[in-house]
Amino acid sequence: MTDVMDKVQAFKQFINGEWVESASGQTLAVENPANGTVIAHVPASGAEDVDRAVQSAATAFETWQHSTPQDRSLLLLKLADALETRADEVGRLESRNTGKPVGAAIDEIPVVVDNLRFFAGAGRVMEGKAANEYIAGRTSMVRREPVGVVASIAPWNYPIMMAGWKIGPALMAGNTVVLKPSARTPLTALVLAEIAADILPPGVLNVITGTGAAIGDDLVGHPKVGMISVTGDTDTGKHIARVAADRVKRLHLELGGKAPVVVFDDADLEAVIENLKVFSYWNSGQDCTAPCRVITGPKVYDNFVADLAASVKTIKWGDPTEGDDIEMGSLIARAQADKVEGMVDRARAGAEIVTGGTRPDRPGAYYEPTVIAGPGQRSEIVQDEVFGPVVTVQRFGDEEQAIAWANDVRFGLAASVWTADIGRAMRVAKAIQFGTVWVNDHFTLVSEMPHGGFKESGYGKDQSMYAIEDYTVVKHVMLKV
Ligand code: NAD
Repeated sequence: MTDVMDKVQAFKQFINGEWVESASGQTLAVENPANGTVIAHVPASGAEDVDRAVQSAATAFETWQHSTPQDRSLLLLKLADALETRADEVGRLESRNTGKPVGAAIDEIPVVVDNLRFFAGAGRVMEGKAANEYIAGRTSMVRREPVGVVASIAPWNYPIMMAGWKIGPALMAGNTVVLKPSARTPLTALVLAEIAADILPPGVLNVITGTGAAIGDDLVGHPKVGMISVTGDTDTGKHIARVAADRVKRLHLELGGKAPVVVFDDADLEAVIENLKVFSYWNSGQDCTAPCRVITGPKVYDNFVADLAASVKTIKWGDPTEGDDIEMGSLIARAQADKVEGMVDRARAGAEIVTGGTRPDRPGAYYEPTVIAGPGQRSEIVQDEVFGPVVTVQRFGDEEQAIAWANDVRFGLAASVWTADIGRAMRVAKAIQFGTVWVNDHFTLVSEMPHGGFKESGYGKDQSMYAIEDYTVVKHVMLKV
């Protein structure tokens, strides 16, 4: 394994059940951000490649849409089983392509596997509304039809997990898919295609590699693409929505986040700090649900800031190959480290950097785990997504202000409330506008429950029965009897 992993690998893309180069013959280099070396080359797709992939998915749809839920379920279960047997290899490749710790990357695979298994079951019990005679002599029924070809556009922060979240519900609902992983992290999606090649009929799942700038508009605008599902930056989502609007295409948008962590004076502070030490810095903070914006009660603020900083200082970070005890790896690219550095530097004037705040001088894309105390509510560091290992802590005056500050961002993906008062927990959970609200916890997701945003975090749900429904169109059929 080590020998293979050390070589620069050349990948092809997967169209209509075949492995092909790009039509132009051009390739893109893929890096390991933990040390900045090139680890692979993948085809650099262009418009011709997009067209081939979409045509192949459209042809496959003609048959796939008529397969039974049981047929599709059995194939998804096989895919899940086959992925499970390669968990270690896929996780290691993911670590190498993203810079995240090896153990964390391997631990993602059972989550993807469970997700595929969930959809394999849930898709068999999807239903329309009960039939009835709403007008005498006419029986109505509601069917949920697949949309057709889905363009699934995935981000770089959880490449294999996002690929799984996207293809599971789309395929189970009877759609075919053209998956476009991020050009920074295409490798595990290609391995997923390799696994699927022995299981799914040709054309049902296609994986093309290329940058959003080069092929995004061609893919989103292709007349035979019925729906676009994108997980990515809010600006990317807005751009895609504009292009899709021309043909009134269906959209599923999982976009940015800026999760508040509302900590009341009666909260179990040790539990909050234990959670933040792990999950604020999980994946180097490159997580749309990361607990990154702490809003604490007035009495506990000072101690909380000191204790959080002391705990964050102990995080062991570095190149994942340095040891199994590395808790935080690199960022995805030096450009991302530039972004984090810029935002922290601009925050210095109005806040205190309690720990971190430096960019290590070494190859790769690193930034130290950072805690910033006392930034203003309207400051950039509080309002915008850093997508790096940075947590801000603010002191609120009362519950009303805590709620107002929690809601006062353009995002609405995830949030948490920490308190011993169950009434307050329920009140605040209702008042804050986020798609997931945890009470005395932050981060845990399950396949059965929906994940998706309010406001500029997008619309459409991942996971749960709601996700499968999102990949269908409701049809009314009326029979004159
Ligand atoms: P990104 O927007 O840069 O890229 C996402 C995907 O969109 C990539 O595959 C990219 O190639 C593609 N893309 C870029 N421009 C495009 C265009 N014009 N047309 C079509 N496709 C295009 O996002 P990223 O940096 O890879 O991921 C990080 C972002 O994703 C963060 O903002 C994060 O909050 C968000 N995210 C959201 C969720 C969620 O569930 N809401 C989950 C993970 C990540």
